[in-house]
Amino acid sequence: AAAQKTSFRIAVIPGDGIGKEVMPEGLRVLEAAAERFSLTLEYQTIDWASCDYYEQTGSMMPADWREQLAGCDALYFGAVGWPAKVPDHVSLWGSLLKFRREFDQYINLRPVRLFEGVPCPLANRKPGDIDFLVVRENTEGEYTSLGGRMFEGTEREVVIQESVFSRIGTDRVLRYAFELAAGRARKHLTVATKSNGIAVSMPYWDERAEEMARHYPGVATDRQHIDILTARFVLQPTRFDVVVASNLFGDILSDLGPACAGTIGLAPSANLDPERRFPSLFEPVHGSAPDIYGKGIANPVAMIWSGALMLDFLGRDPALADGTPWLRAHDLILRAIEIVLADGPRTPDLGGDAKTEDVGRAIARLVRTLD
Ligand code: ATP
Ligand code: MG
Repeated sequence: AAAQKTSFRIAVIPGDGIGKEVMPEGLRVLEAAAERFSLTLEYQTIDWASCDYYEQTGSMMPADWREQLAGCDALYFGAVGWPAKVPDHVSLWGSLLKFRREFDQYINLRPVRLFEGVPCPLANRKPGDIDFLVVRENTEGEYTSLGGRMFEGTEREVVIQESVFSRIGTDRVLRYAFELAAGRARKHLTVATKSNGIAVSMPYWDERAEEMARHYPGVATDRQHIDILTARFVLQPTRFDVVVASNLFGDILSDLGPACAGTIGLAPSANLDPERRFPSLFEPVHGSAPDIYGKGIANPVAMIWSGALMLDFLGRDPALADGTPWLRAHDLILRAIEIVLADGPRTPDLGGDAKTEDVGRAIARLVRTLD
Protein backbone atom coordinates (compact mmCIF):
# COMPACT_ATOMS: atom_id res chain seq x y z
CA ALA A 1 0.00 0.00 0.00
CA ALA A 2 1.09 3.58 -0.64
CA ALA A 3 2.45 5.56 2.28
CA GLN A 4 -0.27 7.53 4.02
CA LYS A 5 0.63 11.17 3.93
CA THR A 6 -0.44 13.42 6.79
CA SER A 7 1.35 16.68 6.06
CA PHE A 8 2.59 18.81 3.17
CA ARG A 9 5.60 21.00 2.65
CA ILE A 10 5.05 24.42 1.06
CA ALA A 11 7.70 26.63 -0.52
CA VAL A 12 6.69 30.22 0.23
CA ILE A 13 7.92 32.57 -2.49
CA PRO A 14 6.79 36.19 -1.91
CA GLY A 15 8.72 37.57 -4.93
CA ASP A 16 8.44 41.29 -5.67
CA GLY A 17 6.34 44.36 -4.92
CA ILE A 18 2.91 43.68 -3.46
CA GLY A 19 3.72 39.95 -3.57
CA LYS A 20 5.63 40.71 -0.36
CA GLU A 21 2.60 42.51 1.11
CA VAL A 22 -0.14 40.03 0.29
CA MET A 23 1.88 36.90 1.15
CA PRO A 24 1.74 37.45 4.96
CA GLU A 25 -2.07 37.68 4.71
CA GLY A 26 -2.23 34.48 2.68
CA LEU A 27 -0.14 32.75 5.34
CA ARG A 28 -2.22 34.23 8.15
CA VAL A 29 -5.37 32.69 6.68
CA LEU A 30 -3.66 29.35 5.99
CA GLU A 31 -2.55 29.27 9.61
CA ALA A 32 -6.08 29.94 10.82
CA ALA A 33 -7.41 27.14 8.59
CA ALA A 34 -4.62 24.78 9.66
CA GLU A 35 -5.45 25.30 13.34
CA ARG A 36 -9.16 24.95 12.85
CA PHE A 37 -8.96 21.76 10.80
CA SER A 38 -5.77 20.28 12.31
CA LEU A 39 -3.91 20.41 9.01
CA THR A 40 -0.14 20.01 9.14
CA LEU A 41 1.72 22.37 6.81
CA GLU A 42 5.46 22.94 6.88
CA TYR A 43 6.81 26.10 5.31
CA GLN A 44 10.08 26.86 3.63
CA THR A 45 10.57 30.55 2.88
CA ILE A 46 12.41 31.39 -0.33
CA ASP A 47 14.00 34.81 -0.89
CA TRP A 48 15.07 34.13 -4.45
CA ALA A 49 12.82 34.25 -7.52
CA SER A 50 12.76 38.00 -6.93
CA CYS A 51 14.26 41.06 -8.58
CA ASP A 52 16.10 41.92 -5.33
CA TYR A 53 17.90 38.60 -5.61
CA TYR A 54 18.63 39.37 -9.26
CA GLU A 55 20.19 42.70 -8.33
CA GLN A 56 22.52 40.99 -5.85
CA THR A 57 23.46 37.94 -7.91
CA GLY A 58 22.72 38.57 -11.58
CA SER A 59 20.21 35.74 -11.81
CA MET A 60 16.66 35.18 -10.63
CA MET A 61 17.33 31.85 -8.95
CA PRO A 62 20.36 29.98 -7.56
CA ALA A 63 21.90 27.16 -9.63
CA ASP A 64 20.65 24.56 -7.13
CA TRP A 65 17.06 25.79 -7.06
CA ARG A 66 15.71 22.32 -7.91
CA GLU A 67 17.58 20.74 -4.99
CA GLN A 68 16.34 23.47 -2.66
CA LEU A 69 12.76 22.73 -3.66
CA ALA A 70 13.13 18.95 -3.47
CA GLY A 71 10.56 17.58 -1.06
CA CYS A 72 8.13 20.47 -1.54
CA ASP A 73 4.56 19.55 -2.42
CA ALA A 74 3.49 23.00 -3.56
CA LEU A 75 4.79 26.48 -4.29
CA TYR A 76 2.85 29.39 -2.84
CA PHE A 77 3.89 32.30 -5.02
CA GLY A 78 3.26 36.05 -4.61
CA ALA A 79 4.23 38.01 -7.72
CA VAL A 80 7.38 38.54 -9.70
CA GLY A 81 8.59 41.53 -11.70
CA TRP A 82 10.04 44.96 -11.19
CA PRO A 83 10.33 46.44 -14.69
CA ALA A 84 12.23 49.53 -13.50
CA LYS A 85 15.14 47.29 -12.45
CA VAL A 86 14.78 44.05 -14.42
CA PRO A 87 13.08 43.60 -17.80
CA ASP A 88 9.91 41.51 -17.48
CA HIS A 89 11.10 38.82 -19.88
CA VAL A 90 14.18 38.25 -17.69
CA SER A 91 12.30 38.10 -14.39
CA LEU A 92 9.46 35.99 -15.75
CA TRP A 93 11.48 33.52 -17.80
CA GLY A 94 14.01 33.27 -14.97
CA SER A 95 11.44 32.23 -12.36
CA LEU A 96 7.73 31.64 -12.87
CA LEU A 97 7.92 30.31 -16.42
CA LYS A 98 10.84 28.09 -15.44
CA PHE A 99 8.72 26.51 -12.73
CA ARG A 100 5.83 25.96 -15.12
CA ARG A 101 8.07 24.29 -17.65
CA GLU A 102 10.43 22.29 -15.43
CA PHE A 103 7.60 21.08 -13.21
CA ASP A 104 5.41 20.31 -16.23
CA GLN A 105 2.48 22.28 -14.78
CA TYR A 106 0.34 21.62 -17.79
CA ILE A 107 -2.93 22.90 -16.31
CA ASN A 108 -3.57 26.57 -15.67
CA LEU A 109 -6.76 26.77 -13.64
CA ARG A 110 -8.62 30.01 -12.99
CA PRO A 111 -11.87 30.15 -11.06
CA VAL A 112 -14.13 33.04 -11.98
CA ARG A 113 -16.84 34.16 -9.60
CA LEU A 114 -18.92 37.26 -9.04
CA PHE A 115 -19.22 38.15 -5.34
CA GLU A 116 -21.71 40.32 -3.55
CA GLY A 117 -20.17 43.72 -2.87
CA VAL A 118 -17.95 43.68 -5.95
CA PRO A 119 -18.97 46.01 -8.78
CA CYS A 120 -19.58 44.01 -11.96
CA PRO A 121 -18.86 45.63 -15.33
CA LEU A 122 -21.69 43.59 -16.91
CA ALA A 123 -25.17 45.07 -16.52
CA ASN A 124 -27.75 43.36 -14.29
CA ARG A 125 -25.52 40.56 -13.05
CA LYS A 126 -25.92 39.23 -9.54
CA PRO A 127 -23.71 36.88 -7.49
CA GLY A 128 -24.33 33.33 -8.67
CA ASP A 129 -24.67 34.40 -12.32
CA ILE A 130 -20.92 34.11 -12.80
CA ASP A 131 -19.33 31.01 -11.33
CA PHE A 132 -17.14 28.99 -13.64
CA LEU A 133 -13.63 27.58 -14.10
CA VAL A 134 -11.29 28.23 -17.00
CA VAL A 135 -8.85 25.39 -17.75
CA ARG A 136 -5.98 26.52 -19.97
CA GLU A 137 -3.42 24.21 -21.59
CA ASN A 138 -0.14 25.53 -20.23
CA THR A 139 2.73 23.85 -22.12
CA GLU A 140 2.22 23.68 -25.91
CA GLY A 141 -0.34 24.74 -28.51
CA GLU A 142 0.15 28.13 -30.11
CA TYR A 143 2.94 29.18 -27.73
CA THR A 144 6.09 27.75 -29.27
CA SER A 145 9.28 29.21 -30.65
CA LEU A 146 9.04 27.05 -33.75
CA GLY A 147 9.09 28.86 -37.05
CA GLY A 148 11.24 31.33 -38.87
CA ARG A 149 11.67 34.06 -41.42
CA MET A 150 12.65 33.90 -45.05
CA PHE A 151 13.70 36.66 -47.42
CA GLU A 152 13.90 38.97 -44.42
CA GLY A 153 13.77 42.69 -45.18
CA THR A 154 12.61 42.18 -48.76
CA GLU A 155 9.18 42.35 -50.31
CA ARG A 156 9.21 38.55 -50.48
CA GLU A 157 9.47 38.38 -46.68
CA VAL A 158 7.72 35.32 -45.19
CA VAL A 159 7.16 34.56 -41.51
CA ILE A 160 5.99 31.20 -40.21
CA GLN A 161 4.94 30.36 -36.65
CA GLU A 162 4.09 26.76 -35.82
CA SER A 163 1.64 25.41 -33.25
CA VAL A 164 2.11 22.09 -31.49
CA PHE A 165 -0.75 19.82 -30.46
CA SER A 166 0.60 16.49 -29.28
CA ARG A 167 -1.79 13.65 -28.52
CA ILE A 168 -0.43 13.39 -24.98
CA GLY A 169 -0.61 17.16 -24.46
CA THR A 170 -4.12 17.46 -25.86
CA ASP A 171 -5.55 14.42 -24.11
CA ARG A 172 -4.17 15.28 -20.71
CA VAL A 173 -5.72 18.75 -20.55
CA LEU A 174 -9.03 17.45 -21.91
CA ARG A 175 -9.04 14.57 -19.41
CA TYR A 176 -8.42 16.99 -16.54
CA ALA A 177 -11.27 19.23 -17.68
CA PHE A 178 -13.73 16.34 -18.08
CA GLU A 179 -12.79 15.00 -14.63
CA LEU A 180 -13.27 18.45 -13.14
CA ALA A 181 -16.66 18.89 -14.81
CA ALA A 182 -17.75 15.38 -13.77
CA GLY A 183 -17.10 16.31 -10.12
CA ARG A 184 -19.24 19.47 -10.19
CA ALA A 185 -22.95 19.89 -9.68
CA ARG A 186 -23.74 21.08 -13.21
CA LYS A 187 -21.43 18.62 -15.02
CA HIS A 188 -21.09 20.89 -18.02
CA LEU A 189 -17.99 21.40 -20.15
CA THR A 190 -17.48 24.02 -22.84
CA VAL A 191 -14.70 23.14 -25.29
CA ALA A 192 -13.21 26.23 -26.95
CA THR A 193 -12.24 25.68 -30.57
CA LYS A 194 -11.82 27.40 -33.92
CA SER A 195 -11.97 24.48 -36.30
CA ASN A 196 -13.93 26.52 -38.84
CA GLY A 197 -10.87 28.70 -39.39
CA ILE A 198 -7.77 26.91 -38.12
CA ALA A 199 -8.01 23.91 -40.39
CA VAL A 200 -5.40 21.46 -39.08
CA SER A 201 -4.79 21.75 -35.34
CA MET A 202 -8.29 22.69 -34.19
CA PRO A 203 -10.09 19.85 -35.97
CA TYR A 204 -7.60 17.56 -34.21
CA TRP A 205 -8.43 19.21 -30.87
CA ASP A 206 -12.16 18.67 -31.58
CA GLU A 207 -11.54 15.04 -32.50
CA ARG A 208 -9.67 14.36 -29.26
CA ALA A 209 -12.41 16.15 -27.29
CA GLU A 210 -15.08 13.98 -28.92
CA GLU A 211 -13.07 10.87 -28.16
CA MET A 212 -12.59 11.94 -24.53
CA ALA A 213 -16.29 12.79 -24.17
CA ARG A 214 -17.16 9.14 -24.79
CA HIS A 215 -15.49 8.26 -21.47
CA TYR A 216 -17.61 10.85 -19.64
CA PRO A 217 -21.23 10.23 -20.63
CA GLY A 218 -22.41 12.14 -17.54
CA VAL A 219 -20.80 15.39 -18.70
CA ALA A 220 -22.73 17.63 -21.10
CA THR A 221 -20.25 18.89 -23.68
CA ASP A 222 -20.69 22.08 -25.64
CA ARG A 223 -18.19 22.91 -28.38
CA GLN A 224 -17.94 26.60 -29.19
CA HIS A 225 -15.82 28.64 -31.54
CA ILE A 226 -13.66 31.11 -29.68
CA ASP A 227 -15.21 34.20 -31.28
CA ILE A 228 -18.77 33.48 -30.15
CA LEU A 229 -17.46 32.05 -26.89
CA THR A 230 -15.82 35.34 -25.88
CA ALA A 231 -19.04 37.17 -26.75
CA ARG A 232 -20.99 34.79 -24.52
CA PHE A 233 -18.63 35.30 -21.59
CA VAL A 234 -19.92 38.86 -21.61
CA LEU A 235 -23.53 38.34 -22.72
CA GLN A 236 -24.47 34.96 -21.18
CA PRO A 237 -22.01 34.14 -18.38
CA THR A 238 -24.59 31.89 -16.69
CA ARG A 239 -24.16 29.21 -19.35
CA PHE A 240 -20.61 28.33 -18.27
CA ASP A 241 -19.44 25.76 -15.73
CA VAL A 242 -16.02 24.45 -16.84
CA VAL A 243 -14.34 25.82 -19.96
CA VAL A 244 -11.31 24.11 -21.52
CA ALA A 245 -9.08 25.82 -24.07
CA SER A 246 -5.73 25.65 -25.83
CA ASN A 247 -2.84 27.78 -24.59
CA LEU A 248 -3.66 30.92 -26.62
CA PHE A 249 -7.45 30.77 -26.30
CA GLY A 250 -7.12 29.89 -22.63
CA ASP A 251 -4.81 32.84 -22.07
CA ILE A 252 -7.41 35.21 -23.46
CA LEU A 253 -10.35 33.61 -21.65
CA SER A 254 -8.55 33.53 -18.34
CA ASP A 255 -8.15 37.32 -18.38
CA LEU A 256 -11.56 38.02 -19.85
CA GLY A 257 -13.27 35.84 -17.24
CA PRO A 258 -11.96 37.64 -14.14
CA ALA A 259 -12.51 41.01 -15.86
CA CYS A 260 -16.21 40.11 -16.29
CA ALA A 261 -16.37 39.37 -12.55
CA GLY A 262 -14.98 42.71 -11.39
CA THR A 263 -11.38 43.25 -10.34
CA ILE A 264 -8.10 41.41 -10.85
CA GLY A 265 -7.25 41.95 -7.17
CA LEU A 266 -9.53 38.97 -6.47
CA ALA A 267 -8.53 36.48 -9.15
CA PRO A 268 -6.55 33.39 -8.08
CA SER A 269 -4.81 30.81 -10.23
CA ALA A 270 -3.24 27.40 -10.02
CA ASN A 271 -0.55 25.92 -12.24
CA LEU A 272 -1.00 22.21 -11.77
CA ASP A 273 0.71 18.94 -12.39
CA PRO A 274 -2.36 16.81 -11.67
CA GLU A 275 -0.21 13.65 -11.58
CA ARG A 276 1.77 15.14 -8.68
CA ARG A 277 5.17 14.16 -10.09
CA PHE A 278 6.24 17.76 -9.38
CA PRO A 279 5.04 20.54 -7.08
CA SER A 280 2.15 22.66 -8.34
CA LEU A 281 2.16 26.44 -8.05
CA PHE A 282 -0.54 28.71 -6.64
CA GLU A 283 -0.46 32.45 -7.29
CA PRO A 284 -2.69 35.49 -7.68
CA VAL A 285 -3.40 36.52 -11.28
CA HIS A 286 -2.25 40.07 -10.58
CA GLY A 287 1.38 41.20 -10.81
CA SER A 288 3.71 43.03 -8.44
CA ALA A 289 1.88 46.37 -8.91
CA PRO A 290 4.83 48.76 -8.42
CA ASP A 291 2.38 51.69 -8.51
CA ILE A 292 0.84 50.79 -5.15
CA TYR A 293 3.72 48.93 -3.49
CA GLY A 294 4.75 50.19 -0.04
CA LYS A 295 1.37 51.71 0.85
CA GLY A 296 -0.11 48.60 2.43
CA ILE A 297 -3.29 48.90 0.36
CA ALA A 298 -3.01 45.90 -1.97
CA ASN A 299 -6.04 43.64 -1.97
CA PRO A 300 -4.95 40.30 -0.45
CA VAL A 301 -8.02 38.30 -1.55
CA ALA A 302 -6.42 36.82 -4.71
CA MET A 303 -3.48 35.61 -2.62
CA ILE A 304 -5.77 34.19 0.07
CA TRP A 305 -8.05 32.49 -2.47
CA SER A 306 -4.96 31.00 -4.18
CA GLY A 307 -4.02 29.52 -0.80
CA ALA A 308 -7.49 27.98 -0.55
CA LEU A 309 -7.04 26.45 -4.01
CA MET A 310 -3.77 24.98 -2.77
CA LEU A 311 -5.50 23.31 0.20
CA ASP A 312 -8.15 21.92 -2.12
CA PHE A 313 -5.56 20.50 -4.51
CA LEU A 314 -3.46 19.01 -1.68
CA GLY A 315 -6.59 17.57 -0.10
CA ARG A 316 -7.27 15.55 -3.25
CA ASP A 317 -3.88 13.83 -3.10
CA PRO A 318 -4.57 10.07 -3.15
CA ALA A 319 -1.60 9.56 -0.82
CA LEU A 320 -3.40 11.53 1.89
CA ALA A 321 -5.02 9.48 4.64
CA ASP A 322 -8.09 11.72 4.83
CA GLY A 323 -8.51 14.72 2.53
CA THR A 324 -11.89 15.87 3.87
CA PRO A 325 -10.58 18.51 6.34
CA TRP A 326 -8.46 20.06 3.57
CA LEU A 327 -11.48 20.41 1.28
CA ARG A 328 -13.58 21.80 4.13
CA ALA A 329 -10.83 24.33 4.87
CA HIS A 330 -11.02 25.49 1.24
CA ASP A 331 -14.79 25.91 1.43
CA LEU A 332 -14.63 27.81 4.71
CA ILE A 333 -12.00 30.25 3.41
CA LEU A 334 -14.24 30.93 0.41
CA ARG A 335 -17.19 31.64 2.72
CA ALA A 336 -15.05 33.99 4.77
CA ILE A 337 -13.96 35.80 1.60
CA GLU A 338 -17.60 36.09 0.53
CA ILE A 339 -18.58 37.67 3.84
CA VAL A 340 -15.69 40.13 3.93
CA LEU A 341 -16.30 41.24 0.34
CA ALA A 342 -19.96 41.83 1.15
CA ASP A 343 -19.55 43.52 4.55
CA GLY A 344 -16.00 44.91 4.53
CA PRO A 345 -13.34 45.78 5.41
CA ARG A 346 -12.46 46.66 1.81
CA THR A 347 -9.22 47.88 0.24
CA PRO A 348 -9.25 51.02 -1.98
CA ASP A 349 -9.56 49.03 -5.24
CA LEU A 350 -13.04 48.06 -4.00
CA GLY A 351 -13.87 51.55 -2.81
CA GLY A 352 -12.88 51.11 0.84
CA ASP A 353 -10.09 52.54 2.95
CA ALA A 354 -8.89 49.40 4.70
CA LYS A 355 -5.30 48.18 4.67
CA THR A 356 -4.10 44.88 3.27
CA GLU A 357 -3.65 43.61 6.81
CA ASP A 358 -7.19 44.58 7.93
CA VAL A 359 -8.68 42.40 5.19
CA GLY A 360 -6.34 39.49 5.97
CA ARG A 361 -7.15 39.68 9.69
CA ALA A 362 -10.91 39.86 9.05
CA ILE A 363 -10.84 36.78 6.81
CA ALA A 364 -8.62 34.87 9.26
CA ARG A 365 -10.95 35.75 12.14
CA LEU A 366 -13.95 34.36 10.25
CA VAL A 367 -12.03 31.21 9.36
CA ARG A 368 -11.48 30.68 13.09
CA THR A 369 -15.02 31.50 14.19
CA LEU A 370 -17.62 30.78 11.47
CA ASP A 371 -20.00 27.91 12.17
P1 ATP B 1 1.92 41.36 -14.69
O1 ATP B 1 3.01 41.57 -13.68
O2 ATP B 1 1.08 40.17 -14.42
O3 ATP B 1 2.37 41.52 -16.09
P2 ATP B 1 1.11 44.05 -14.58
O4 ATP B 1 2.42 44.40 -13.99
O5 ATP B 1 0.77 44.57 -15.92
O6 ATP B 1 0.86 42.51 -14.48
P3 ATP B 1 -0.31 44.35 -12.13
O7 ATP B 1 0.96 44.37 -11.36
O8 ATP B 1 -1.22 43.20 -11.92
O9 ATP B 1 -0.07 44.51 -13.67
O10 ATP B 1 -1.10 45.68 -11.87
C1 ATP B 1 -2.10 46.19 -12.77
C2 ATP B 1 -2.94 47.25 -12.06
O11 ATP B 1 -3.81 46.62 -11.11
C3 ATP B 1 -2.08 48.23 -11.27
O12 ATP B 1 -2.61 49.53 -11.35
C4 ATP B 1 -2.16 47.72 -9.87
O13 ATP B 1 -2.01 48.69 -8.90
C5 ATP B 1 -3.54 47.07 -9.80
N1 ATP B 1 -3.51 45.90 -8.88
C6 ATP B 1 -2.91 44.72 -9.15
N2 ATP B 1 -3.04 43.89 -8.11
C7 ATP B 1 -3.74 44.54 -7.17
C8 ATP B 1 -4.19 44.21 -5.85
N3 ATP B 1 -3.94 43.00 -5.29
N4 ATP B 1 -4.86 45.13 -5.15
C9 ATP B 1 -5.12 46.32 -5.69
N5 ATP B 1 -4.74 46.71 -6.92
C10 ATP B 1 -4.04 45.84 -7.66
MG1 MG C 1 4.17 43.34 -13.92
